[in-house]
Parts: sequence; structure tokens; C-alpha cells
Amino acid sequence: MGKSERKVGIMFTKSRLVMLSDLAENESNIFEELEINTDLIHKKKPDECPCCSSDNVKGLEVIGTYDGNLFWECYECESVFLRFNAKTTLKYLEKAIGLWTNPEDWAYVPRSEFN
Ligand SMILES: [Zn+2]
Repeated sequence: MGKSERKVGIMFTKSRLVMLSDLAENESNIFEELEINTDLIHKKKPDECPCCSSDNVKGLEVIGTYDGNLFWECYECESVFLRFNAKTTLKYLEKAIGLWTNPEDWAYVPRSEFN
């Protein structure tokens, strides 16, 4: 595992949190949420960002899912790209469901629980 890779758990960026309900209610939602273009798949880390051509692209690992990078992220424009197709990516993400069901741990309560 290279030094440049981050372990992010359910946090994709400092400001974005993906909840279990995103997956359960609407499978395509997570990609919309992260503005991921599911037609763009990079099996290997792209040399440069397809959006802004920056070479500051790094692997993004999601704890509890695939043992390795699941996404690529551009540190310039914050675009996120798929390593696997959407279906496979979701399958890996679903493995992390146990990690996603404790919103209190993340000091975040989804709106739906404010009954
Ligand atoms: Zn970029």
C-alpha cells in the first residue's frame, strides 16, 4: 500500500458522507451523489484527470469493501472515477454496510431519523 493512498471508510472527502440509505433506496444514487460518471471506468490509475488533466490523481480506498483502491480521485477538481463498473462497485460497497449503519459514530444523523 503506497503512502499516497488514503483510508477513508465511509468518508469520500472531508465534506461528503455516504449513508446506507443511499444504497438501499436507490442504487444509482451513490454515483449521482458523488457525481461519478459511471461510463468512465479506469482499471488502472489514470495518468491524468479526465476532467481537468491534472496528474494529481490518487487511489481512494473504502474500508470494509474492496481490499485496494475502489475509486480514483482527482485532488485538483475533486472528481471521482470508477475502477470497476457500477454494478461491481456497488457490490463492494454493500460489503461495508455494517460500517455504514452507525451514523452516531460519525456525529451525523440522517434527516429521516428526526421523527
Ligand atoms: Zn481533475
